Amino acid sequence: MKRNLSLLPLAAALCAGLAFTMIAAEKAGDKAEHKHEHKGGPTGGRLLETEPHAEFFVEKDKSITVTFYSDDLKPVPFAEQVVTVIAEAKAGKTKVEFEKSGDVLKSKTKLPEGDGYNLVVQVRAKPDAKPQNFRFPLDLKTCDECQRAEYACICEH
Ligand SMILES: [Zn+2]
Repeated sequence: MKRNLSLLPLAAALCAGLAFTMIAAEKAGDKAEHKHEHKGGPTGGRLLETEPHAEFFVEKDKSITVTFYSDDLKPVPFAEQVVTVIAEAKAGKTKVEFEKSGDVLKSKTKLPEGDGYNLVVQVRAKPDAKPQNFRFPLDLKTCDECQRAEYACICEH
């Protein structure tokens, strides 16, 4: 019994040490995450890996706005990009086309009702260029961690 008691401080020290190591490891993990974290669109949309970056943003009425940004996220006026979105809703595929509206592109039509279906966003640098395709599910729920819509979430999960 006496021996056990004398071991207690040692056990406590070991526990504290372990906890400290775990916190340190967690911090290191955070750093690594930030390094790999993908950038989010400045207005809360999904930033696509195009040149310049295109931000895909779903408005409240389910129309879509596409804004272009430089690498350091400064707005770049729309040039001659062509964007097409294919919504693979349960009721069938819908093609959404865009038109120039000031410096940005606005969808001519709205996305189908609901969410949870896949989107394919095609971006052409100019009308005759090969398209870059971005496929992701449309999830309009808000992410608890980054407070962005899930389709534009910038967390690592
Ligand atoms: Zn998130």
